[in-house]
Amino acid sequence: MKKNSLQNLFTFIDGSPTSFHAVANLEKLLDARGFLKLSERERWKLETGEKYYVNRNGSSLIAFTIPREKPSGFHMAAAHSDSPCFKIKESPEIAVNDHYLKLNVEKYGGMILSTWLDRPLSIAGRIIVKAGEDLRSCLVNLDRDTAIIPNLAIHMNRDMNKGVEYNPQTDMQPIIGLTSDKGSFMKQIAKEAGVKEKEILGSDLYLYNRDKCRLIGMDDAFIAGPRLDDLECAYAGMTALEDRVSKNYVNLCAVFDNEEVGSGTKQGAASTFLRDVLERISGALGIDGEEYRCLLADSFLISADNAHALHPNNPGKADETNRPVLNGGIVIKYHGSQKYATDAYSAAAMKDLCNRAGVPFQSYANRADIIGGSTLGNIAMSQVSVNTVDIGLPQLAMHSALETAGAKDFDDLIEALRTFYE
Ligand code: ZN
Repeated sequence: MKKNSLQNLFTFIDGSPTSFHAVANLEKLLDARGFLKLSERERWKLETGEKYYVNRNGSSLIAFTIPREKPSGFHMAAAHSDSPCFKIKESPEIAVNDHYLKLNVEKYGGMILSTWLDRPLSIAGRIIVKAGEDLRSCLVNLDRDTAIIPNLAIHMNRDMNKGVEYNPQTDMQPIIGLTSDKGSFMKQIAKEAGVKEKEILGSDLYLYNRDKCRLIGMDDAFIAGPRLDDLECAYAGMTALEDRVSKNYVNLCAVFDNEEVGSGTKQGAASTFLRDVLERISGALGIDGEEYRCLLADSFLISADNAHALHPNNPGKADETNRPVLNGGIVIKYHGSQKYATDAYSAAAMKDLCNRAGVPFQSYANRADIIGGSTLGNIAMSQVSVNTVDIGLPQLAMHSALETAGAKDFDDLIEALRTFYE
């Protein structure tokens, strides 16, 4: 395992508590590699051999490189920037017994609720402020131990170890201080952002786990960290794209927000974002509608979203013959009802790619009696229909506040995507 690339991944995840921060950090990475930023509001002029990126909503990002010669298609990878967490509601302060100050929160995505209890949390997101005539977006991250959701003592629920059903409205509200602090929440946010509280007209703020990413195991075989799903794949995708300008293919990496809540937003995988970008690239390169459709027919999408590894304490939950393991390589995901877009052709193309890159691969399928999750590959296909494979890195405890993955698999994904983009 290359410790350097893992250290970069850890720095990225630690500094990306929300999708907004993840996109801002990926943009910094792209800036450093000479990518040019485009705006959706302006006409695009694209040069052959150049590298560009564009974001939507500050939380979804598409980067691409224009080939040196006439394009024959698009080589695309996609991942997501968001992770399950708690969104802080409007007017969030709640006083309890005239003593504690709590925050009113709601679920964003399908997290394992219990994993958010009894651990230091902080608050981050974006606020919208009035700046002259315009509305301006500012990132904010309190970046200190600000909140905690305390468990109930076992003495008050002796059946706790027989399983607890947590009510997200009543059991999952974090305390942030005492009622003497009332009114302090938005003041702190404003102070952190360097604006006046009354200038804040809107906010998308979230609780996040303060744990940092780290190596785990006698011989550092594993990594543990928050938001591994799917910041591992997002970072691998953008890292692999780096300076990969191909001869004939537009190389592209898309990182979509809102996968955890169904992708159905203006910037999600179900939106027109990817299609708009592909059409605008084609338009700027003088490719007409007929030719554009020819390019799509010769295009490929690798949808990269983490996969369930065989669980050491629950091996019976895994399929009998498709049970990927940590450090076993890239997982190709299959689903009979096509929640994963992989088919025989796209699986073959992916295996061929892994073989050429010299990295291992393994397969995942749900047990036939377990419904399983979904991802963004088949959702994106409703807007742009191309050959697609669903893959991911194997991990445990998906949607826990702290997830576990293999220390070796991350580099394999970068290597495979680099080969893809070549
Ligand atoms: Zn995911």
